[in-house]
Amino acid sequence: MSVTAAGFKRFARQNIFIPVAQTVRIDVALEVGAASAGDFGSYHAEPIDPRAAGSEPSIMIFPYGILVNKQGKRFVDEGPGTIDAFYERQTRRIYEQQDGLAYVILDAKYQKVPNYRLAIRSDRPPIVAKSIEMLAEALQLPPQKLRDTVDSFNAACRPGNYRPLELDGVGTIGIDPPKSNWALPINDPPYHAFPIISSNVFTFGGLKIDSCARVLNPDGHAIECLYAAGETVGLYYRNYTGATSVLKGLVFGKIAGGHASRAGQPIESRGRSAK
Ligand SMILES: Cc1cc2nc3c(=O)[nH]c(=O)nc-3n(C[C@H](O)[C@H](O)[C@H](O)COP(=O)(O)OP(=O)(O)OC[C@H]3O[C@@H](n4cnc5c(N)ncnc54)[C@H](O)[C@@H]3O)c2cc1C
Repeated sequence: MSVTAAGFKRFARQNIFIPVAQTVRIDVALEVGAASAGDFGSYHAEPIDPRAAGSEPSIMIFPYGILVNKQGKRFVDEGPGTIDAFYERQTRRIYEQQDGLAYVILDAKYQKVPNYRLAIRSDRPPIVAKSIEMLAEALQLPPQKLRDTVDSFNAACRPGNYRPLELDGVGTIGIDPPKSNWALPINDPPYHAFPIISSNVFTFGGLKIDSCARVLNPDGHAIECLYAAGETVGLYYRNYTGATSVLKGLVFGKIAGGHASRAGQPIESRGRSAK
């Protein structure tokens, strides 16, 4: 059950501690004077297959191919760095394309990348074709445009020491946007494609806390009896730092519990329900 602003103030007067994640919504915490943190206009973006039914059908294979929009044009460097560091920024670029949709175009070489299946969590198979033109038709992309895009990309690829599991610097020359690593020509049929859209994993905005997990007001002072951890805490701006969301829940949840138990008695042990 959610606590109202008036209810929270009543509990606080009695020195009763309430964990935000369980009982006080972010908007109620803001109403009782909490400061916000994190970008309220943004979210953690993940590239997923819109056809898939399963949970988190992410498609992270695009460093080994090219990304094209509905016009059959490339629009982003597919390999600026490791996928974990760059997929969110690339996914935001996918969101900017017409209908928020892009396709990764691959040739047979991607299936030689060790453990490549880990980068494809969709329960739907790739769209497969013997030629780029046939693939374009299957994807309802302009065939000649996709052919031109692949030809110009292939012409911009240069020989190099291709190493798919590290930054190999095998990049394109003389094409915009460039591809900075793993740039092999797309010329080895059959050709595969997956559609990709941007999903919203979680929003960035939340409450501002101190190192004891106490919720702060805009002057930087802790609000009595109010702690926050996990998704209720605002932290991220522009780009999500990989693998940190459960971590911040764990770390600040533990800190909040320890601090609250030293500072006062939690509501549960008083046998009261939050209203
Ligand atoms: C698809 C997906 C993939 C993710 N992958 C990763 C990953 O790989 N690594 C990572 O670190 N993080 C990942 N995350 C994020 C991670 O799941 C969250 O950061 C984490 O679960 C947040 O924990 P939490 O306890 O703060 O919130 P939640 O897990 O959302 O728990 C909040 C709980 O509060 C309950 N609740 C809500 N409102 C009220 C109310 N008014 N009163 C009482 N109870 C209420 C909810 O029912 C829920 O049980 C992923 C998230 C998603 C959606």
